Amino acid sequence: LIELDRAHLIHPVSSYRGHEALGVRVLKSAKGATVTEASGRQLVDGFAGLWCVNAGYGHDSIVEAAARQMRELPYATAYFNLGSEPAIRLASELAERAPGNLNHVYFTLGGSDAVDSTIRFIRYYWNARGEPKRDQFISMEQGYHGSSVVGAGLTALPAFHAGFGIPFEWQHKIPSPYPYRNPVGEDGNAIIAASLAALKAKIEEIGPERVAAFYAEPIQGSGGVIVPPKGWIKAIRELCREYGILFIADEVITGFGRTGPLFACTDEDIVPDFMTTAKGLTSGYVPMGAVFMADHVYDVIADGAGNSAVGHGYTYSAHPVSAAVALEVLRLYEDGLLENGIKAGARLMAGLEGLSDHPLVGEVRGRGMLAAIELVVDKQKKTPLPASAMPARRVFDRAWDNGLIIRAFANGVLGYAPPLCCTDSDIDAIIERTRRTLDQTLD
Ligand code: PMP
Repeated sequence: LIELDRAHLIHPVSSYRGHEALGVRVLKSAKGATVTEASGRQLVDGFAGLWCVNAGYGHDSIVEAAARQMRELPYATAYFNLGSEPAIRLASELAERAPGNLNHVYFTLGGSDAVDSTIRFIRYYWNARGEPKRDQFISMEQGYHGSSVVGAGLTALPAFHAGFGIPFEWQHKIPSPYPYRNPVGEDGNAIIAASLAALKAKIEEIGPERVAAFYAEPIQGSGGVIVPPKGWIKAIRELCREYGILFIADEVITGFGRTGPLFACTDEDIVPDFMTTAKGLTSGYVPMGAVFMADHVYDVIADGAGNSAVGHGYTYSAHPVSAAVALEVLRLYEDGLLENGIKAGARLMAGLEGLSDHPLVGEVRGRGMLAAIELVVDKQKKTPLPASAMPARRVFDRAWDNGLIIRAFANGVLGYAPPLCCTDSDIDAIIERTRRTLDQTLD
């Protein structure tokens, strides 16, 4: 398998230089939070695949939901006003649970095309409102909004830009409210004030009448699990409202119980104009994403669509099998998984906090089942790990050898996003294996 992989399978490009030489690790099966390698060795998956297998592996009821739907109706297009029962029911169940008036749902295949879809919808919205000049988009440093060429322009990770002329000239960034490394210090109010000032300045620089939308993750994931101060997103959301700019909460990672509730926006008591989700929606069993759209946005687009060219959709939009899986996953979340995630999240955070005094640990941060340790060379000076990605890769490899899967970001941040089904002993294994890995890294 390893030889065939090297010869034929193109992996997503990772930021680790020389990753081709590292070889592939083949997974064979999984149950709960435990995955088994082809060799038979077992590991705890502290990252739920790629922050997506929120429900955990091996749920027979999910498999049965998919099989039932495949037998009955494996495919129905959502074009030409056609529908299928699971997709319609899923849209309605999601709207019922979404914050505020996010009552309209557009299904995609994942997170990148969910973000791409919002860009189109937003342009349709402003065109329909007679303001086609509102074509400038703002997002944040350290933000991640997908890897399609357009979405990657909102993403702030340079590896996703090289060679494509992105970000495009209509895509702008403001600094992230990164408490551990914020020039204004770690005080929450100061960070919020600085962030508001930065967004205001950017809007004024572009021209308020030109700005279409602002994108933010409630907690930045791929940038290194950056948790803004409580109240930050509410203040930013309000500023967007004051300027009449659309606000998009990208909940592709934070959605579906990752931070505790079904959506982090609920936790923060905000209602965005759009919310993008994927990953935990189907818990990774099949691909699917969902864009939530507020009533006041939908009404404008729906009324205006007849006046201009509007085309958008995918062959697999609202796929009935994905929808049937998502409905069952939603049932599982509400049948104890969300509750277990909150309990396990508290244990995870407490356990990671217990590693704070380790010489390599600069900061422990997170919310619920989304957490990170930022490794540093010097705790006092907060000196980051060397810029090369390889130290992080070595930590990843050591953790793997210790029976733990975590994410090691190139900036020396270790990411944790275990399945919500984790037992106490799963969490304890994650902590114990992390400590062992850090001690070995110190040697
Ligand atoms: N938005 C956010 C916040 C994400 O974390 C991701 C993926 N990590 C995406 C969008 C893109 O999702 P996908 O990989 O499913 O295309």
